[in-house]
Amino acid sequence: MTDRYSTLFPSVQQQVSAAEWETRVNLAACYRLIDRYGMSDLIYNHITARIPGSDDHLLINLYGLLYKEITASSLVKIDVEGNILSTPDTDYGINKSGYVIHGAIHKARPDVGCIIHTHTRAGMAVSSVKSGLLPMTQTSMRFAGHLGYHDYEGPAIDLAERERLVVDLGPHDAMILRNHGLLTCGATIQQAFNTMYQLELACRAQLDAMSAGDEITLPPQEVLEKTAHLYQPGTRRPYGVLEWHALLRLLAAEPGGYPPYYQ
Ligand SMILES: [Zn+2]
Repeated sequence: MTDRYSTLFPSVQQQVSAAEWETRVNLAACYRLIDRYGMSDLIYNHITARIPGSDDHLLINLYGLLYKEITASSLVKIDVEGNILSTPDTDYGINKSGYVIHGAIHKARPDVGCIIHTHTRAGMAVSSVKSGLLPMTQTSMRFAGHLGYHDYEGPAIDLAERERLVVDLGPHDAMILRNHGLLTCGATIQQAFNTMYQLELACRAQLDAMSAGDEITLPPQEVLEKTAHLYQPGTRRPYGVLEWHALLRLLAAEPGGYPPYYQ
């Protein structure tokens, strides 16, 4: 018997609601963009999205695919506990233990439509320095007072740690998992992506500044607070919306070799 590890999946567009298909296309694009901007980690980690109007149904990647292989029709539909509701005809499954962080947040935060977790080099590095993320650049200032920290407790997430994870995230849309990596969430896929892009960039800039060896200068507290407020989603405009169509055009224009994300 041969394993069925093909990644050519038939389209499910005709079998799902319009809302689910739209979520699938945007989530597949989000996986591609996380990879495109250097934030993927082989086949590991997850981006999950809630299907609007559904009874807490979520979409997640098949475990074993590179982010650049993920398509709308390859995504798996699960409930909030991680039980599979529908999946392509394949021997690939889902990484249920990797899902528990996402599951805890989806359960506790009904306002969250999408969660992204990464293990990037810059994210892991900043997650391991005592000072955490410094509000040293305009990009990082949006996170001042709007960033959770969760201490590392080992790879297995038990029930009690799930509760601490939710408490540590609080009302924020971004969290540093100490000695581990980054997590962002948002009302929409677009917003969660935008927040992760900014958080990652802030981490990279901080490491560049730290390695320069000079003292790092920070603006006064009142400037930080004002800036953080002005950069919250909804203060001036929602985040990730204007950029999204441009980002989809970027994906569409890239040379092929993999099935398009919208398949
Ligand atoms: Zn992780």
